[in-house]
Amino acid sequence: MSDISTLLSDLLGSIPTNAVLRERIEFIKDQLAAEDKARSEAFKTIERLLQENDQLRKRCDELEKQVAAHAVTDQYTEHRGALFKKDRSKIGHHIAVYCPKCKSSAAPFPPGEAFSCECGWFSAFNEAELEGVLKEISPPKVKFKRFV
Ligand SMILES: [Zn+2]
Repeated sequence: MSDISTLLSDLLGSIPTNAVLRERIEFIKDQLAAEDKARSEAFKTIERLLQENDQLRKRCDELEKQVAAHAVTDQYTEHRGALFKKDRSKIGHHIAVYCPKCKSSAAPFPPGEAFSCECGWFSAFNEAELEGVLKEISPPKVKFKRFV
């Protein structure tokens, strides 16, 4: 029973009433009880929707992180333990080697030797082999045949 319904009962309890007035008072009490029930159900619905919204927000955050991570990994091709950045304008890869651990560009050190990164990573191939490695991951060039 709501505070208003209790207040109404207390207020009207001290007033002498006739049958018609008592009937109207009971009608009003029934309406107040129905409104209390509806309000209580509305609060439960709001609570459920808030929890559902919180779960959906967390799920959305997770999916946004996955999309961002995928966007980063989609920029590179991993081959022979190194990363190669895709060059979408040429449908190939940039002539550079990236570290698979920190995605920084790696340089051959000393010149001509394996590529290395500041984090301590070393490539399994040296600078002279880079052109061949890039050919391994590049799509074959389209060859036109003449049909006679
Ligand atoms: Zn690194």
